[in-house]
Amino acid sequence: MSGLYDLVIYNGRLVYKDAVRDGGIAVQDGKIALVFEASQRPQGKQELDAGGKYVLPGLIDSHVHFRTPGYEHKENWESASKAAVAGGITTVLDMPNTDPYTDTIERIRQKDKLIQGHSLVDYGFHIGVVPGKLHPLDGLQQEHAASIKLFLTGHRTARNVIDLDADLETIFRMQRQIPLTLHAEDDAVLHLYRRVHRTPNDLASYELIAPRSGAIAAVSRVLRLVRKYGTSIHVLHVSSEEEVDLLETAARAGYPVTFETTAHQLWFDLESAAALGTKTKLSPAIRGKRDRARLWDAVRSGALTSVGSDHAPHSLKEKAADFGEAPPGLPGVQELLPVLLTGLGRHLPELSRDEQLSKVVSLLADGPANRFRLNHLKGSLRPGLDADIVIVDDEQVWEVGAKDLYSFCGWSPYEGLPLTGVPLVTIRRGQIVFDRGQFGKFDGRSLSYAPAPFATFEQVSGSPFH
Ligand SMILES: [Zn+2]
Repeated sequence: MSGLYDLVIYNGRLVYKDAVRDGGIAVQDGKIALVFEASQRPQGKQELDAGGKYVLPGLIDSHVHFRTPGYEHKENWESASKAAVAGGITTVLDMPNTDPYTDTIERIRQKDKLIQGHSLVDYGFHIGVVPGKLHPLDGLQQEHAASIKLFLTGHRTARNVIDLDADLETIFRMQRQIPLTLHAEDDAVLHLYRRVHRTPNDLASYELIAPRSGAIAAVSRVLRLVRKYGTSIHVLHVSSEEEVDLLETAARAGYPVTFETTAHQLWFDLESAAALGTKTKLSPAIRGKRDRARLWDAVRSGALTSVGSDHAPHSLKEKAADFGEAPPGLPGVQELLPVLLTGLGRHLPELSRDEQLSKVVSLLADGPANRFRLNHLKGSLRPGLDADIVIVDDEQVWEVGAKDLYSFCGWSPYEGLPLTGVPLVTIRRGQIVFDRGQFGKFDGRSLSYAPAPFATFEQVSGSPFH
């Protein structure tokens, strides 16, 4: 390469999933052209001094509900993508429970069209499934969607529950190239508890009607199907100790199984969330301290693949309803990185700060990029990949206040709390999209997926456990 690079970021601490190195990055045509050591100093048309701060790959939030189309009174793509880049996130994967439901390739295309020109982040979609109407999956190719999302239970903003054995068998049997992502709570179990317990009026009584047994039963059920068909699955928002045990063991046995938890499940427990009332009414429910500790064990061991924000905003008015009526879900895309970093400091203090930052990169970049076939574009500070980069001040304290939030819903479960670790500058494909409160161009684009790297049915069926 002769001449000047488009952009040079120097004097940084480059974070990888297994190391931190002093140096910088040169960007050309939206791609990482060169990663250089601290002793080198290539020249750029634009140069950015990272000031000795951590430099991470642009983060990937593989679990968001940006509410477009149909629920724009809760959130819209522009405000949600502002919140994302302010949180260091440059790529999101959006869930299908919009209105209309994103359950066909055509609906994915329509959603993509609506978003074009309104997104600071690059984006992809999980496609949904409507019970009894599985035919749209027939023509589904690996380039169409990040995953097929199945809700095994539902609620008011997630109405399409796949519960029939026949539907599940068909879906697990047909899918080879695109993983399934699962909201794994057993609908029948939850209904049972709802019949016996009174309408909840606080978080503890809500957990009685959305108990751990529902999640455990659903995970057991899907593991049986994975064993039968070898389907690759990613279980979302794992909330209990027992689910972690089951999924970790299945993965060790060679099943093509991975799992996610959310930032709020790593942060809250039933006790600490109690005062927030309906704001922390979630599906699945927040659980106890031992569950949270087990989730942090999975962070420590590396068993956990990704942390999602499950950014699912509702208006304050909707959340002001009675406990039984208020919709489950909370915003969190902007808070994802600060919550994870602060949590790492609190729950895994035996790790050095460098190692904690490496955990962030595994869970919010490498992990989701590999899982969702984005590693040819994103997820690491490697030459040839998209120049998605975030400079993080890991010592700056952010006292979360409504005035700093960009989500249209305008509130956060973390309000009033000090979080440590703030993104300063966020770069997406070489363009600065966030710089200390200033935003860039709304020209994020939809993603392309690489061929599936995970085990196929044939490979799994040849293994000894089958
Ligand atoms: Zn969700």
